[in-house]
Amino acid sequence: MSNPMNFAFLRKEALPPNGRKVAIIGAGPSGLAASGYLACLGYEVVVYDKLPQPGGLMVFGIPKKRIPPERIQAGVKRMERQFGVLFRTKTKICCSAPLHEEEGDHFSCDIRGLGELVREYDAIMICTGSWKSRKLGIPGEKLKGVHSGLEFLFPIRAARYASPNVSMPAVQGKRVAVVGAGHSAVDVVDSAHALGAEKVYMIYRRTVREAPCGSYEIDRIEEMGATWLERRTPLSVMGDDSVVGLELANGVTGETETLDVDMVVTAIGEIPTPPFQQELGLENVRKGEVRWLHMTSIDNVFVAGDVLTGPSKIGKAIYSGLRASRSLTNWLDLKAQDREDEYNYDEDKIDR
Ligand SMILES: Cc1cc2nc3c(=O)[nH]c(=O)nc-3n(C[C@H](O)[C@H](O)[C@H](O)COP(=O)(O)OP(=O)(O)OC[C@H]3O[C@@H](n4cnc5c(N)ncnc54)[C@H](O)[C@@H]3O)c2cc1C
Repeated sequence: MSNPMNFAFLRKEALPPNGRKVAIIGAGPSGLAASGYLACLGYEVVVYDKLPQPGGLMVFGIPKKRIPPERIQAGVKRMERQFGVLFRTKTKICCSAPLHEEEGDHFSCDIRGLGELVREYDAIMICTGSWKSRKLGIPGEKLKGVHSGLEFLFPIRAARYASPNVSMPAVQGKRVAVVGAGHSAVDVVDSAHALGAEKVYMIYRRTVREAPCGSYEIDRIEEMGATWLERRTPLSVMGDDSVVGLELANGVTGETETLDVDMVVTAIGEIPTPPFQQELGLENVRKGEVRWLHMTSIDNVFVAGDVLTGPSKIGKAIYSGLRASRSLTNWLDLKAQDREDEYNYDEDKIDR
């Protein structure tokens, strides 16, 4: 068995059951860290995820050579066997609304509502990440051959879990323009190469020094044969039915230029995807004073990871899941204490 990732690192063995039940929505790094923390403290933990395997973007976004999925699955098995955590995969949690159009929705066989969970559990933690891609907002973005970063990468990663609705991007022999310079953009460049693209361009509106992926990655993809084009802003995707080119403003020369490509992948970031927006008051949570407590505007519903902070990193998501769990346990302890005080107060009145 691969060396398991340890999500339940607080204790070697769980404390005896404390009678409290928590639902975690989303089995990415933040949800797994929260599950491990709470299970170690004797909470009954049930994790819901719309995808067929736990791991979130660690499995369905990041290439397996960076994080072997077997290590994540081994860590999940350990939580199941040793700490009694239950995983309910292929289950999407949403409002009364039907499925959104997010990546991975088609894997879900079961849908459950928040109201149901609120009634069933002592507390809920939302760890649903950022699964909607940002758009460029330029003409031609709806043409055939334009994809978002996640749209492009997700089927490649999900192919091993064979779903009839997942088909790999057809890249063989194509010229591909990748817009963006973050780690997802680099992953798209790598995957396009691996899938047999004839030519790959990486396009960024700023300079190499400002590229979030760093100059090492840019040197590496250039050595691989990709072309780095900096200070270029996409103006429109050209074509009638499908992509035939990308029009760019060249910030160096001040001129407009055209790149002959058959595919455009926009890897310019993702947007948080909570299962329901307004009800949680997430906008206020992000800005407001309760952010550090990870509390939403619904009693006993907490939030952690990229869905709260916007796209970040695995380490930060894990930290967020742990902080939110501590906040959740403190909150439940406080409520239990309040109930006890109320009870004692009533007893006092009866005695008098
Ligand atoms: C292509 C790519 C490459 C990256 N590379 C790196 C890297 O090299 N290093 C690094 O540190 N970070 C990297 N990141 C960022 C990192 O993966 C994320 O910051 C991290 O995974 C966020 O963790 P999370 O738990 O908040 O959310 P996620 O990992 O996104 O997990 C969210 C989970 O919630 C589930 N879910 C969503 N909605 C629902 C719902 N309504 N009902 C049920 N389940 C739901 C999803 O299926 C998913 O499993 C990368 C991101 C991308 C996109």
